[in-house]
Amino acid sequence: MNILFYDTKSYDRDSFEEKRCQYPNLKIDYLKSELTPATAKLAKGYDAVCAFVNCDVGTETVELLHQCQVRLILLRSAGFNHVDIEKARAFGIKVMRVPGYSPEAVAEHAMVLALAANRRIHKAYVRVRENDFSLGGMLGFNFYRKTAGIVGTGKIGAAMARICKGFGMEVLAYDKYQNPELDFVEYVSMDELLARSELVSLHCPLTDDTYHLINRETIRKMKDGVVLVNTSRGGLVKTEDLIEGIRARKFFAVGLDVYEEEKRNVYEDRSDEILESSVTARLLSFPNVLITSHQGFFTEEALGAISETTLKNAVAFEKGETTGNEVE
Ligand code: NAD
Repeated sequence: MNILFYDTKSYDRDSFEEKRCQYPNLKIDYLKSELTPATAKLAKGYDAVCAFVNCDVGTETVELLHQCQVRLILLRSAGFNHVDIEKARAFGIKVMRVPGYSPEAVAEHAMVLALAANRRIHKAYVRVRENDFSLGGMLGFNFYRKTAGIVGTGKIGAAMARICKGFGMEVLAYDKYQNPELDFVEYVSMDELLARSELVSLHCPLTDDTYHLINRETIRKMKDGVVLVNTSRGGLVKTEDLIEGIRARKFFAVGLDVYEEEKRNVYEDRSDEILESSVTARLLSFPNVLITSHQGFFTEEALGAISETTLKNAVAFEKGETTGNEVE
């Protein structure tokens, strides 16, 4: 089976090459370029393509992959909102993902963002390096005995709920389906979660239902001085409304691993450029906002699990077996 990997960095290639010897029937070529309509034609002659979160696997790309006779799209991610699933199904192209490769990796990053933004660690790091040992503007608040609101209690949300519990927080959650493992969590409506939580952490997928879940109206329902963390998908938060809320001093701190305009930036070194996007620049200008570049997944354990599951998905497809990782 021939697989063309798109959007690979050296750490992806290292991680896959380490595991590949166990799968001698898989032939892999790696590209640095993302999978987009412009690069989809390179897949001619391959049985499968492998894409990451930032690839554009929309309608046009899927059509081109079909023309190239690609039969399988392997996602090195849990999320699949960047793929036209219906089009792929119509063409008989199977889409397989890596669900729950390391929920703790993302949940721990969510707590890192919450703590670091709350305690202004991003400012403290720079200040101390400049021999400025003052504390002005760095006053935070304890999470102990405060309330955390977890939106979406799947694998990552559940891991975040356990972490918050470990911090001595009361844990509220909102989800369409209750997770039976979380007997210490109080499930409430979204409105009640927003009204009672000092920390709101988003862990639901980006769907038509959840697009701009955090907007002017839902921000108004939050407690004053709330900490908001998004490690899920940028589209969950309407950035303009978030900025309005930050300006209105609604948020004590905001930690974002994902944001709406990340696509152009993510995993690129653009330090020599002038940022054209004013919205991202505005977010970066606030002292209580901490942004990382979609790195929640980025731990050794998660990379190892991603490569192992992706290769197993490919082998199962080749054998006509199902793994439960098919996106239906
Ligand atoms: P999951 O499928 O295990 O859980 C998602 C949960 O969200 C489910 O319990 C589902 O019922 C719930 N949900 C769906 N719609 C909802 C709604 N409208 N309101 C509230 N809850 C809703 O997924 P997961 O593995 O926990 O991942 C969650 C998300 O995290 C992914 O969709 C992905 O976008 C994001 N993610 C980010 C990174 C990163 O590096 N930052 C890495 C992996 C995943």
